[in-house]
Amino acid sequence: MKKHSINKINKILSQPLNELLFKAQKKHKENFKNNDVQLASLISIKTGSCPEDCKYCPQSAHYNVDLKKEKLIDLISLEKAAITAKKNGATRFCMGAAWKKLNDGNDLDTVIKMIKTVKSLDLEACVTLGTINKNQAFKLKKAGLDAYNHNIDSSPSFYKKIITTRKFEERLTTIETVRKAGISVCSGGILGMGETWKDRVEMLKVLSDMNPHPESVPINALVPISGTPLEHREVIDPIDIIRVIATARILMPKSRIRLSAGRKYFSKETQLLCLLSGANSIFYGENLLTTENNSMTEDKKLISMFNNIDSAISFDIENKVIPKNNKLNIQKRKRKKFQSDKKIRASQ
Ligand code: SF4
Repeated sequence: MKKHSINKINKILSQPLNELLFKAQKKHKENFKNNDVQLASLISIKTGSCPEDCKYCPQSAHYNVDLKKEKLIDLISLEKAAITAKKNGATRFCMGAAWKKLNDGNDLDTVIKMIKTVKSLDLEACVTLGTINKNQAFKLKKAGLDAYNHNIDSSPSFYKKIITTRKFEERLTTIETVRKAGISVCSGGILGMGETWKDRVEMLKVLSDMNPHPESVPINALVPISGTPLEHREVIDPIDIIRVIATARILMPKSRIRLSAGRKYFSKETQLLCLLSGANSIFYGENLLTTENNSMTEDKKLISMFNNIDSAISFDIENKVIPKNNKLNIQKRKRKKFQSDKKIRASQ
């Protein structure tokens, strides 16, 4: 596996946008033969009161955020959510708990039951549970777990400014533990927290140096939440996220690059550009843990638009949202009229 130097990654990231997107698309096409976009649904299975102090997170117990805290949800609610996600087209079901680490006993046993429930519905199962040890990782794998999410968030040096209750190296250790148990790794970062371009390059270096690359790489845009220390940060410029996605696609050609939190604040065009830059997975569902996401109807339309114009049109017709004077409708009507006129002319 080829490792890239910081200089090389910087060069890829900072080339003219058309060159960058062209190269990213080429890599994408070479490694993913069809244009599929994976739909991953994410649910919070335990909300709030987290002892960690991640400055971006409304679930941290360190900040005064208007958030309804919830204990570990019951299996029936979990199953209902997974069935709904599947009915709506999701293929992966991710479960997140606001924990520093996974505790043995009831927490671990319940999570194992949750994984089995998700797998019985023929969905891929992914969890994010904080730090886990070797023994727990093997138990989760045995229950059928497909993937474990553990984001590195940013560069090693910027990480210290965002989280003080744990070390960057601990993240890498958990990722290694997960990998050794035979579970796929899902790891990515958050943009727009005040990091520099150098931090973004360093984050991409850490991710792309992993051997093998993470199976999926979520790229999040910070959603500034009132009450958190990052509440006043401006929403990231969409072009920044597009550059990072395209670079990630070039560096990790076979990984699923996932357009994750913050997508709700992007225009439809920006989201399509993210898919054109190499993203091929989205988080799908009205909520992403505790932040709002696009509605599933909007997302279905986005994907159909991305895939082909015919399915976009049929989606509009099915959902009766096509305006009467829509250009394509006018063209269709003109074509129909021309054909019926032609028949009349032929019969004369
Ligand atoms: S990001 Fe995760 S670990 Fe950090 S405070 Fe939020 S729930 Fe806890």
